[in-house]
Amino acid sequence: MKFITFLTKDEQEHVGVIKESGEVIDITVLGREHLYFNSVLDIILGGKEAMDVLGGLLKTVAEESIVKKEEIKILAPIPVPMRNIYCVGLNYAKHTEEFSKGKGETIEHPIIFSKVPTTVIGSEEDICAHEDVTNEVDYEAELGVIIGKDGKDIPRDKAYEYVFGYTVINDVTARDLQRMHKQWLLGKSLDTFCPIGPHIIHKNELNNPDNLDISCKVNGEVRQSSNTKHMIFDIPEIISTISKGHTLNAGDIIATGTCEGVGMGFEPPKYLNKGDVVEVEIEKIGVLRNTVS
Ligand code: MG
Repeated sequence: MKFITFLTKDEQEHVGVIKESGEVIDITVLGREHLYFNSVLDIILGGKEAMDVLGGLLKTVAEESIVKKEEIKILAPIPVPMRNIYCVGLNYAKHTEEFSKGKGETIEHPIIFSKVPTTVIGSEEDICAHEDVTNEVDYEAELGVIIGKDGKDIPRDKAYEYVFGYTVINDVTARDLQRMHKQWLLGKSLDTFCPIGPHIIHKNELNNPDNLDISCKVNGEVRQSSNTKHMIFDIPEIISTISKGHTLNAGDIIATGTCEGVGMGFEPPKYLNKGDVVEVEIEKIGVLRNTVS
């Protein structure tokens, strides 16, 4: 199943499932008895029972639950995460080279940083250029992992049991702030700097997250083009590392790092400007599209 969150005509936040036909079913109106689905988090927290109930309900969908796409506004699948988005830095060798300008940095352990929840926007929402605080806004195409249940000290071989699904993330970054402040939080956490979506695909429908083409286009020009198989630290290693002595919660979001081709890697750099359209695409998941304004 693919899950989206959207605003209805009367500005109510609803959750939906995208069918193979592309139709969106409003599942907010389908909940029964003790299981209501008011958000994607409700589904994640509901665990297997929620998925089973939902599977049954979707077999007999009434016409009025089908949403007219022109009448909704898509939001990020989890519009307000409960806490910071976990991010992996320098997780593709060729991006590490372009980031360290050929100084040959070796990454022995995953680099983990975070973005605050107020950075999150959905597909088709605008990335703010923040021209008053930065001149170097950059894009980073990344596979997003959504955690499905709480866990601590998760071993590699159990890591996928803790995954709910996958999404597309643009880890937008102000390079000048990232350099200036040493720690990356500020450069990564300007408002609108974490486009996510347009939906979350459940893990049952994506059995090869470790081998997916990933790309980023700016105004139609391909800037990044790689495959998640080139990650230095794979998804089990990332989950195992973060959860050592530290509880990951259901609904947590992990951005797994970007590949080569970011704006700072070009000579001269190709940073984002107002009016640019950025499209991050991951095979089998979808396209996350945002305009800089
Ligand atoms: Mg990143």
